[in-house]
Amino acid sequence: MSAPRRISVLGATGSVGLATLDLVRRAPQGTFEIVALTAHRNVEGLADLAREFSPEIAVAADPQCGSALSDALAGTSVRTACGPDALIEAAGMDADWVMAAIVGSAGLMASAAALRPGAALAIANKECLVCSGDLFMQTARARGATVLPVDSEHNAIFQALRDEHRGHVSRITLTASGGPFRDWPADRMAGVTRRDALAHPVWEMGEKISIDSATMMNKGLEVIEACRLFDLAPAKVDVVVHPQSIVHGLVEYGDGSVLAQLGTPDMRIPIASTLAWPERMETPAERLDLARLSRLDFETPDPERFPALRVAREALEHGEGATAALNAANEVAVAAFLAGRTGFLDIVRTVEDVLSAMDRRETLPKRFSAFDEALDIDARARRVADEMIGRLSASSA
Ligand code: NAD
Ligand code: MG
Repeated sequence: MSAPRRISVLGATGSVGLATLDLVRRAPQGTFEIVALTAHRNVEGLADLAREFSPEIAVAADPQCGSALSDALAGTSVRTACGPDALIEAAGMDADWVMAAIVGSAGLMASAAALRPGAALAIANKECLVCSGDLFMQTARARGATVLPVDSEHNAIFQALRDEHRGHVSRITLTASGGPFRDWPADRMAGVTRRDALAHPVWEMGEKISIDSATMMNKGLEVIEACRLFDLAPAKVDVVVHPQSIVHGLVEYGDGSVLAQLGTPDMRIPIASTLAWPERMETPAERLDLARLSRLDFETPDPERFPALRVAREALEHGEGATAALNAANEVAVAAFLAGRTGFLDIVRTVEDVLSAMDRRETLPKRFSAFDEALDIDARARRVADEMIGRLSASSA
């Protein structure tokens, strides 16, 4: 038997983190060995996972959680630590495979720290690619790390993209479920509540990505993510709405051949393909039964009701500075919506306003040469977004 694959899970207590650990739990004994598990401030959830999986270290990113975590794991062999530096240290530990499943650009430095020579980084944390994906991919190449896309559409493309045929790719297509408001009339969307927006018809996910799916900013972020991951021009990345979420992504070659990856909507399928990469492994995911499904539908996204795709594409044309600002503004606006401080339609409007305000004030860089530059724009866009949302809520109070 070969040595266990040494793995770490950043964002272990989240939807993707838990799905990853579910696969580990079901794998034959001795397949995996856990190096590090991290969370933000869900100490109880992290401690439960640490007791079950006995990692070398468990880290809470929130500096306030240190004593609660060490108390919870007292008497076990698990080392505990907290705070942003501990998170980065855990990410950079000697693992063969790291799952980057922190949500938001808060995960950027940890995801980047996991780019180590010979190691594989399974990346779910799309925000870090939207924030500074060109630099991220360049860093991965320079360090000799392999990046494996986890996002279901990108994982589909990764599976359908043959390296030796890369020069013949004419376009790729990402499918979108369309979210909970796919068929809602425009006038109804102004009154969307937090509860409406969190009720995704197909996928069960964390709150932030659920809201992004509802505005369709998720697909905008994913177009940017795809260009960065696969080094493609924006014009070569298409989006089609496919409510059943069975076909996840398609690669069209110059000869007219289209290769797609299909599967039931269960994140354990794409995660497993990265966890076993370059091999395959078993998952308990429901099998695809095409005759029972009987039909698959496809439609063009509606640019009127879902302007997020256009806003994201415009930022992508501008470059990395603009996509970093787009991502940060979106994170702030989504958090404000979840906290009941803004309306649903204000989310994308705020993102667009932040981008034009920043573009008027300064020249946003086309490319970053260091992650600090990305974090600086991220912080400034957050301040601009905060001010705008503050004014919005003051005027509606
Ligand atoms: P989630 O909210 O369920 O989990 C997020 C995880 O990150 C948790 O473990 C949390 O403790 C940790 N975290 C949150 N804020 C943090 C911070 N400031 N510092 C350190 N850790 C922090 O999110 P999720 O749905 O699992 O999504 C994770 C990432 O994967 C996101 O980037 C999302 O876009 C992407 N993704 C998710 C899915 C899905 O099905 N859930 C699908 C595709 C892509
Ligand atoms: Mg996706």
